[in-house]
Amino acid sequence: MKRLNARVLELAQQQSADIKRALSAAGVKIVQGTGKLLDRHTVEVTDEAGLTYNLHADFILLSVGTHPREMATGRPDGERILTWTQLYNLQEVPKELIVIGSGVTGAEFASAYEGLGSQVTLISSRDRVLPGEDEDAARVLEDVFERRGVQVMPRSRASAVERSEDGVVVTLSDGRKVAGTHCLVAIGSIPNTEGLGLDAAGVEVSDSGHVVVDGVSRTCVNNIYAAGTAQACTRSPRLLRCRGASLWRTFWGMRSSRCAPTGWRAIFSPPPKLPPWV
Ligand SMILES: Cc1cc2nc3c(=O)[nH]c(=O)nc-3n(C[C@H](O)[C@H](O)[C@H](O)COP(=O)(O)OP(=O)(O)OC[C@H]3O[C@@H](n4cnc5c(N)ncnc54)[C@H](O)[C@@H]3O)c2cc1C
Repeated sequence: MKRLNARVLELAQQQSADIKRALSAAGVKIVQGTGKLLDRHTVEVTDEAGLTYNLHADFILLSVGTHPREMATGRPDGERILTWTQLYNLQEVPKELIVIGSGVTGAEFASAYEGLGSQVTLISSRDRVLPGEDEDAARVLEDVFERRGVQVMPRSRASAVERSEDGVVVTLSDGRKVAGTHCLVAIGSIPNTEGLGLDAAGVEVSDSGHVVVDGVSRTCVNNIYAAGTAQACTRSPRLLRCRGASLWRTFWGMRSSRCAPTGWRAIFSPPPKLPPWV
């Protein structure tokens, strides 16, 4: 597990370095720091040393992503109660993994860890896994889970997660308790829009904190655009790619097309056999 996670993180770092190199080669100036809008044309940057300076721009693109939603009654500790960002620090395969949340992330990790040898229990608050996806595909996935020994608990809402002496205990809203060695909390994500200065720039935000955009990814402030998972109407990688292309055409003054969320959204496919480093 330690080697697998090290390899995943190494690949991610390599990919990040490749993209950085390609951007620099294309003439993009990359500055490291945290950005905040001061007004519709000014971004305040705070760098790692705490120094701040302002950047001015005709157009601004917000692409700040999301972070995992946490349960108030079961804060992740990075050891036994984990979010999907903390899983990559695991040193060994969990013996019994409880996954709370059966959306794309929860289902994906339930499948992966079952493949790695964990006994997996998937707690789903809805009737079926992948509630936002195609119903037939979700049923196929449930059948596969059942055949592979993943215990799916439908219509079960987790209300708390606690550490026990040697693991974790998840309490469901009807009082039932589920015990395991580790728990992954995968109950959705929150856009990184807090403290971004959207108020100061007059950018509209939905109740969920997502940036509201039109069909070409423009916010209500006509020189500020938003792309990626922090905007209100992009959920799938296919739609993200389509929106990227649409945004590019808009920036270059070409006739832009709107993107409709059609076609597939998620694919689950285990590798034919485990790689040699597992
Ligand atoms: C577990 C998991 C598995 C996934 N698997 C796949 C997959 O197999 N294939 C696929 O296509 N997609 C996958 N996705 C989805 C994919 O990760 C997202 O669609 C994609 O990362 C969204 O890109 P983004 O640019 O919106 O956000 P991000 O990739 O999150 O990037 C946002 C960046 O902005 C930075 N940032 C935030 N606030 C500020 C600020 N104020 N100033 C400066 N920087 C800031 C963040 O640090 C981050 O680096 C997966 C997602 C998850 C959670």
